[in-house]
Amino acid sequence: MGHIIPLFELAKRLVTHHHFHVSFLVITTADPLPAAKTNLLCSSTVPSGLHIIYLPPVDVSNLVADIPPGLTPLCIMVQHSLKLSLRSVLLRLTRPVALVIDLFGTDAFEVCDELSIPVYSFFTNSASFLAFSLYLPTLDRETEGEIVDIPGPVQVPGCRPIHTHDLLEQVQDRKSDEYKWFFLHMSRLPKAAGILTNSWKDLEPVPLLALKENPFFLNIPTPPVHPIGPLIEEDEPITESGKEILSWLDKQKPDSVLFVALGSGGTLSSKQLSELAFGLELSQQHFILVTRKPNDASAMGAFYSAGGKEDDPETYLPEGFAKRTEGVGLVVPSWAPQVAVLRHASTGGFFSHCGWNSTLESVVQGVPMITWPLYAEQKMNAAQLVEEVGVAVRPVVELGKEVVGREEIERVVRLVMEGKEGKFIRQRAKELRDSARIALELGGSSFDSLTHVAKAWKLGRNAA
Ligand code: UDP
Repeated sequence: MGHIIPLFELAKRLVTHHHFHVSFLVITTADPLPAAKTNLLCSSTVPSGLHIIYLPPVDVSNLVADIPPGLTPLCIMVQHSLKLSLRSVLLRLTRPVALVIDLFGTDAFEVCDELSIPVYSFFTNSASFLAFSLYLPTLDRETEGEIVDIPGPVQVPGCRPIHTHDLLEQVQDRKSDEYKWFFLHMSRLPKAAGILTNSWKDLEPVPLLALKENPFFLNIPTPPVHPIGPLIEEDEPITESGKEILSWLDKQKPDSVLFVALGSGGTLSSKQLSELAFGLELSQQHFILVTRKPNDASAMGAFYSAGGKEDDPETYLPEGFAKRTEGVGLVVPSWAPQVAVLRHASTGGFFSHCGWNSTLESVVQGVPMITWPLYAEQKMNAAQLVEEVGVAVRPVVELGKEVVGREEIERVVRLVMEGKEGKFIRQRAKELRDSARIALELGGSSFDSLTHVAKAWKLGRNAA
């Protein structure tokens, strides 16, 4: 969902603002699409002129059966799907002016080269992570041993140094399949005719400038980077259970509720979930807790559970939790309408896994964050939000301990919801909220960036 949502928003904008006809290709497997995906793609707000094409289902179950959850099974599935049907689908369309791919869709380059269709990558993560990804082949060449073992932080030219303990898990072990797949896709990024990024000048001035002006990046060579964000889901379809959550929020005071949600598939271990629940309780703040059945093996557990089945939180939350927090907290199994919750005036803080969409959704609503990174590049996002952007606090993880205790959780929750620091980061988040709105308006930096690309496509050229 983290990739589909901004790609779909881009598709909608290309139709409504720039009058393109857009075909949106969706990879499918033998499993039914999860409800959240169906709601998004079948929503009544999809403009005419946007046409969804479901690629024929691929069955890679025998190839991924023994592979743990992560990037590897996803990349295998995407590769098989694109090999099977991209060429024939593109041939059936009338002269596409460009193909915009997801960052793991780089197998499209070969097909599009042959068909002379320019390929643009929509890098749905931060510009900072884009800079790191473009730098990775150089880092790989220049590093002996493991990247995580190099002394001191990783210095991407022109950007804030990245502590090695914050690096994404895919680069922790260079011999792993996870690294190989990540490296493969990132090393193909320079083949794109352009890279669209879900960011804007005021949010990430430093990495965006580095990508534009740093001679190192020009030497790679780097395709032109077009910041077009923040593109977040605007007209989220609200289900009946979603409506109940929003009417609960209607009864709360402004800025008084902490929203706790860990992305489209994040899970916690049983111990951690229990500490989180006790920490929330101790903080005495109002909260909405979106929970999933704990998973002790992987923080990505829910991505792979059969169809995102909702388990009963009473069976895994601390005994008596629901009763003790009645009226103060709302426990929601599996999924909440996040954008609508963050937009609600009663929401005053977001305890988040720091996926890039969640980050943008929070910033766009001026909601300060508590960072709880789980997987992928989320630790890098968390560090950036605290150290560079100034809209978040990060709980202290004691060295050698796997679980963050309830007292620390209570501390950060109180800090954001009622402390001085909370006021400060809320103010900063509100400033960025205003700048995001301006960036997307007619004449704003992101609006102009996308217009520039759209104009070039209409003229049959590549956007410089
Ligand atoms: N989301 C939601 N309700 C939930 C959990 C997640 O609507 O209960 C949406 C959220 O608004 C965001 C997306 O799912 O748009 C998650 O994307 P993100 O990049 O934050 O994380 P990822 O899913 O890639 O880990």
